[in-house]
Amino acid sequence: MSVPFLDVRVTDPATRAQIDRVIGDLISTASYIGGKEVQTFAEEFGAYCGGGKCVTLANGTDALILALKALGIGAGDEVITVPFTFIATTEAITHVGATIRFVDIHPKTYTMDVEQLKRAITPKTKAILPVHLFGQPADMDSILEIANQHRLFVVEDAAQAHGAEYKGKRVGTLGNIACFSFYPTKNLGAMGDGGAVVSNNTELLAKVARLADHGRADRYYHTVEGFNSRLDTFQAAILRIKLATLDQSNERRRKIAEAYNNALRQQSFIKPPFVASTSKHVFHLYCVESSHRDALLQYLQDRQIGCGVYYPIPLHLQPAYARLGLKRGDFPVSETLSERILALPMYPDLSDHDLQTVCEALKAFSPAVLH
Ligand SMILES: *Cc1c(COP(=O)(O)O)cnc(C)c1O
Repeated sequence: MSVPFLDVRVTDPATRAQIDRVIGDLISTASYIGGKEVQTFAEEFGAYCGGGKCVTLANGTDALILALKALGIGAGDEVITVPFTFIATTEAITHVGATIRFVDIHPKTYTMDVEQLKRAITPKTKAILPVHLFGQPADMDSILEIANQHRLFVVEDAAQAHGAEYKGKRVGTLGNIACFSFYPTKNLGAMGDGGAVVSNNTELLAKVARLADHGRADRYYHTVEGFNSRLDTFQAAILRIKLATLDQSNERRRKIAEAYNNALRQQSFIKPPFVASTSKHVFHLYCVESSHRDALLQYLQDRQIGCGVYYPIPLHLQPAYARLGLKRGDFPVSETLSERILALPMYPDLSDHDLQTVCEALKAFSPAVLH
């Protein structure tokens, strides 16, 4: 690839040296599980997310599962979310024993459509699980207002939105609890798996922490059956180093997005992403829409420019959810978008030269021409 879709290598020599040093120290002291790095990262990340408290976990999927479990959600309960997201969002609902209720996304923001949310609430609904998709916060004021009216919990899937802001407030403490992933490609990425929940509710966080540690109240005293879900020490140390430059890398992502937006000004076949005036977007992905998506994909691939489809099949049409009995036509916005959407190269280390290459290619695209 002349311009890769993604590059998660550490290119800054100073950052690399810092990581080498801290991992070397941890190996020297045989510090593999827990310890100061994990505790300090939790404090730093909670503070970063609007001054909340944080419990670190093994991955983002566990964050969703343990958040729902700590809220007491289980069999007989319904959780409302969107079909246009990664399957981890809905796996968590199923794994706590609850039932998935889908509502479509808004065609502009790609986040939960609040008008449909109102109509999907039943007496069994216990929680709303909005996804801050691609780095843009969901319409949280409307969601929180509906949640308050119906006494529902709000669990934020913030796996793609570290540092994103809604009306000047960082995601993480907008709802009851927020779930983060530190998978290497995420805006704050580890060098392996990692996850966390953030909240202002310390009682709720204590429940998550206990569930994540075998239900322990003491070393061999277990008040409930829990799980083993730990962020390991190496990953915590790496995340602390990367958190220090997260704002800078999100700013670079916004700069790249701006360059793409400019390139698309005169391009009538490709629609740039919509950013709500309430959002500070962090562009986990920069996704365009085109009615000539497959031609555009082929065109970019022919030019050695990496791109990807997120997501090609909405969750309600996945074989894994055949049991829900949903069909094509049930969530038309998600279905149409899955045929139109295309993600362009987006990562802080994308060079100006490569960015220019992609911009020039975008400007020159025409579906009428055989490439
Ligand atoms: C990545 C992601 C997750 C899951 O995180 P893992 O750390 O991979 O378990 C959940 N939800 C969304 C929207 C994601 O993008």
